[in-house]
Amino acid sequence: DASIAGEFGRIMGWADKYRKLAVRTNADTPQDAKKARELGAEGIGLCRTEHMFFDPERIFAFREMIVSDTKEEREEALEKILPFQQGDFEALYEALEGNPVTIRFLDPPLHEFVPQEEEEIEKLAKAKNKTVQEIKDIITSLHEFNPMMGHRGLRLAVTYPEIAVMQTKAVIRAAINVQKKHPDWKLEPEIMIPLTSEVKEFNVVKKVVVETAEEEIKKAGVKLAYQVGTMIEIPRACLTADEIAKEADFFCFGTNDLTQMTFGFSRDDAGKFLNAYYDNKIFESDPFAKLDQVGVGKLMKMAIDLGRPVNPHLHVGICGEHGGDPSSVEFCHNIGLDYVSCSPFRVPVARLAAAQAEIKNPRK
Ligand code: PEP
Ligand code: MG
Repeated sequence: DASIAGEFGRIMGWADKYRKLAVRTNADTPQDAKKARELGAEGIGLCRTEHMFFDPERIFAFREMIVSDTKEEREEALEKILPFQQGDFEALYEALEGNPVTIRFLDPPLHEFVPQEEEEIEKLAKAKNKTVQEIKDIITSLHEFNPMMGHRGLRLAVTYPEIAVMQTKAVIRAAINVQKKHPDWKLEPEIMIPLTSEVKEFNVVKKVVVETAEEEIKKAGVKLAYQVGTMIEIPRACLTADEIAKEADFFCFGTNDLTQMTFGFSRDDAGKFLNAYYDNKIFESDPFAKLDQVGVGKLMKMAIDLGRPVNPHLHVGICGEHGGDPSSVEFCHNIGLDYVSCSPFRVPVARLAAAQAEIKNPRK
């Protein structure tokens, strides 16, 4: 009721007065983004673009891309997805009313995208003028034994740069359109590359993004600032963060993958043996829920300590599940992050935790 809402607002107002960490949300629909804004989110820290491809029309076009032989054919297939993707981003920019939006480029394991059903394989064969067997051979050639450690994240953009081209066009065109409608907003798209492990691979994708973005901006005859940053979610990225920071505008810790890769535990299967770890007092809690401060946390601190001196403007956040856990938020405050990003319903808890962290350990 109104009085509860009033009390809630008052307490949250106190928290906001103290906290130094910004609180963003993980959202990929305007509905979630609006909900999170009502709960106090100051921006989107992670928009995952994966689910946007699963609409039947789009997924078919994506599959046509996968089984294409030439760059031109791949571009043609992805052009069919571009208007939808642009529409998705326009809706998010509208929902955020000028606040920052970080859009992460495609990061599924490729196996989720290859066709399984006989009927669709036949349809693809027809569309691509290939035999059913040829399509099946391509699918077999893409099989991976460990997809989560395989062909995903920016590796997809290295092998299929056309995907990064399409997503860059969608982000930049969407921002230009929404900016025109709202001249008082100052949009600055933040493009986030997933699964970077070192600067050379980051640069391969960054080059594609920057060339495409510059061309789009020039064609539109407007001015638009944008950022290209990266997820930090592989231990090697933490170890080489000084090199990456020379090229990236921001870092965002993906602690779901960083936990998986630091522990060597599958994030999808660890639940099957963790109980025995609690029984034996090896762990007190689930490392995928609470940041492992002496392991994963140490890598995060290392990445910040390496990155900040070479790039004093480096903006640093977290968007793994830990971004909404109070003790993890406190740790993020203590090691100097700029923002945490969490699911919409955890935004108030993150705001409170950030205020408590500042009271306990004030930043200079
Ligand atoms: C992460 O790995 O922490 C992350 C935010 O990305 P995703 O969960 O989509 O892999
Ligand atoms: Mg990840």
